[in-house]
Amino acid sequence: MQRRNFLAQASTLALSSGWLSACGGGGSTDTDTENNGTSSGTPTTSTNPVIRTPPGTAAKSRVIVVGGGMAGATAAKYLRLWGDMIDVTLVERQSSYTSCIMSSLVLSGQRSLSSLVYGYDTLRSRYGINVVLGDVTAIDPVGVKVMLASGQVLSADRIVLAPGIEFDAVPGLGTPDRMPHAWKAGTQTSLLASQLAAMPSGGTAILTIPKVPYRCPPGPYERACLLADWMKVNKPGSKLLVLDSNADFTAEKDNFSQAFYGLHANVIQYVTNADVTQVDPVAMTLNTTQGQFRGDVVNLIPRQRAGSLITANGLANATEGRFAGVDVLSYASTVSGAGKVHIIGDSSATTQPKAGHIANQEAKVCADAIVRLLAGGSPDPAPVTNSACYSTITMTQASWLTGVFQYHAASASMQAVAASSAASVGWSSGDFRDMGTWFNALMADTFA
Ligand SMILES: Cc1cc2nc3c(=O)[nH]c(=O)nc-3n(C[C@H](O)[C@H](O)[C@H](O)COP(=O)(O)OP(=O)(O)OC[C@H]3O[C@@H](n4cnc5c(N)ncnc54)[C@H](O)[C@@H]3O)c2cc1C
Repeated sequence: MQRRNFLAQASTLALSSGWLSACGGGGSTDTDTENNGTSSGTPTTSTNPVIRTPPGTAAKSRVIVVGGGMAGATAAKYLRLWGDMIDVTLVERQSSYTSCIMSSLVLSGQRSLSSLVYGYDTLRSRYGINVVLGDVTAIDPVGVKVMLASGQVLSADRIVLAPGIEFDAVPGLGTPDRMPHAWKAGTQTSLLASQLAAMPSGGTAILTIPKVPYRCPPGPYERACLLADWMKVNKPGSKLLVLDSNADFTAEKDNFSQAFYGLHANVIQYVTNADVTQVDPVAMTLNTTQGQFRGDVVNLIPRQRAGSLITANGLANATEGRFAGVDVLSYASTVSGAGKVHIIGDSSATTQPKAGHIANQEAKVCADAIVRLLAGGSPDPAPVTNSACYSTITMTQASWLTGVFQYHAASASMQAVAASSAASVGWSSGDFRDMGTWFNALMADTFA
């Protein structure tokens, strides 16, 4: 484990910033944190809070959640909803969250990026979560502490890590400006949208798909379908080359193969087993295991691993060192000595897909387990999660995919329940409308 690294970094910073007083052995209170000047927020002053710890009552337990995305925001909210006497601090490096879900619709001009932005004010005011704007750089899993880039140290009884994903370096790429991934929503999404808008009619766009496991299995295929439909109208005569590192569609094969080889066959060319080995962003070429390709626009989605917080702190002990092994009853790390650190969302290695809906579900199982553990009990021995996903097949029609997972004791893993897992047969405009309803409900459950 990286406890020595944590202490070394913390000691270095202590000399210059005096964090030890904030750390305070047993840990600073969250009031200390706010007074330390790095919090983005103020103490809870909601006029109508759902959760309220009685004045003068000391919080029994403290939990720090790192990462305010789909997993972390949900965990923080439900820890407060289900554990009224738990003091929750959410540390997030961005002042607001931009949803990846629906972000491909920004590329087709059907949504604005600003429509996908969610703030933390409601989590703070309605649920009494201490929201700290900061970048966590190190974790002490044994002392149950996190250190921020500012030098501030926070301690707790449990830590929940939900830092999402990072990308592998692609040889030749450098900064991803000329070949954006747009797989973390934000400036990359806007950049790809403007490059697509500037592409000449009759041009070639390339979309690469990384090896599994990656964030949102159907996501690249649905983006390809959406862009193909958009190009028919907006960039006539253009082609979309889909270079897949995998041997076949990795999700919803029936619908995507019908769309690729039928509906969009005049636009999409699908190349499998095409692993990107080197790129030249000036010449706009990609060398792959299936030969060299050139595009006017290249949406290069690199291979993925857990957020750097996980890998840098010795917690990526699964999937060839890419993701974090967890006990799916509580999402506690399986690294020896790190049992008070829980890892949820895309950073964790489970049999469930890396998806926002599942991240929300994992967060609830984790929050429930922590509430029980802090009360001296044990996690629910039979958790169930579910995931729904809509895929844009055209600019106005969508398909859907759903799965239910339940704990399988013999393999200590979440297993898909066959009778409750299905995909739509084809696509429809009604499902496109339902996609909007599903999205709004999921985001409200996470951030409101
Ligand atoms: C184009 C696209 C479409 C998608 N569509 C769907 C869909 O239809 N349905 C679906 O279910 N899923 C979808 N997904 C997947 C979904 O977005 C992810 O699975 C989900 O966001 C994972 O949640 P997370 O909390 O693990 O990570 P994130 O949501 O990425 O959140 C991680 C957070 O941690 C913060 N962070 C990271 N490191 C630190 C640190 N050291 N200190 C402080 N903060 C830190 C980040 O700033 C970020 O806010 C899609 C993804 C993409 C790219």
